[in-house]
Amino acid sequence: MRASIAGIPQRITETDVPVWRILGRNPGPMTGPGTNSYLIGESRLCLIDPGPRDSVQLRSFLTAIGDRKLEFILATHTHGDHSPGAADLQRATGAELVGLPAPEHGNHDLSFTPARDWRHGDLLDCGEYSISMLHTPGHVSNHFCYLLREEELLFTGDHVLQGTTSVILPPDGNMSHYLDSLRELQQMNLRYFAPGHGDLIHDPHGELRKLIKHRLRRESKVERSLAEIGSCGLEELVCVVYDDVDKSMHRWACRTMLAHLEKLECEGRVRREGERWSQV
Ligand SMILES: [Zn+2]
Repeated sequence: MRASIAGIPQRITETDVPVWRILGRNPGPMTGPGTNSYLIGESRLCLIDPGPRDSVQLRSFLTAIGDRKLEFILATHTHGDHSPGAADLQRATGAELVGLPAPEHGNHDLSFTPARDWRHGDLLDCGEYSISMLHTPGHVSNHFCYLLREEELLFTGDHVLQGTTSVILPPDGNMSHYLDSLRELQQMNLRYFAPGHGDLIHDPHGELRKLIKHRLRRESKVERSLAEIGSCGLEELVCVVYDDVDKSMHRWACRTMLAHLEKLECEGRVRREGERWSQV
């Protein structure tokens, strides 16, 4: 696949229903090449994840939409690299916002305020295609994936990423919920993942198996390391458990490791005393 250029719509060639990937102008260590926005449809359009508030990117969206009708703006979740562009795009087009508002904890976009109470299983019928909504908590509690049913293509936001794994952010993010959400996807017929960051994934079920295995392997490394070190704090533990990850990313690795520890604590396998953790 040729490299994407920010703001320039790139047609996903695998689908009959038109899907355009529009790369955001926000590359970085946490966003990879930038946030992917997706524009779907021929005449009645949906746009998934408008990304950060950005007047240049807004113009790119409006040019891509042209004189067609944008019916829905969908946000996979309310992190700053996914939903803040929705409010301006809504004002410009009159489209309806789809997704869940910001949860209580964490650094979320409070400007995303859908008028309706959207639920798992809700269906957006755009005539030529339809999109069903799947609640997939874990990365954060208000995360949705969106299934383009006719193509069995799932827009995965930050639930599944290409080229990296998502950070699980307690207290709102939750490792047990994350693994359950991945396992739920294993029950579905899926042909492609269109992630919030990175390229289209052609083997969704292989990717799910790999992700679950990766998390469980990390979880046993947490337990093994605690057994070796004994009682310790997060900063000491992260250097051992994430010795394969660059130190500059340890701040984030710490959050995901805490999510592993909280899961293990719930299962009665580790205990927390103040700031220190140990094996049961
Ligand atoms: Zn996110």
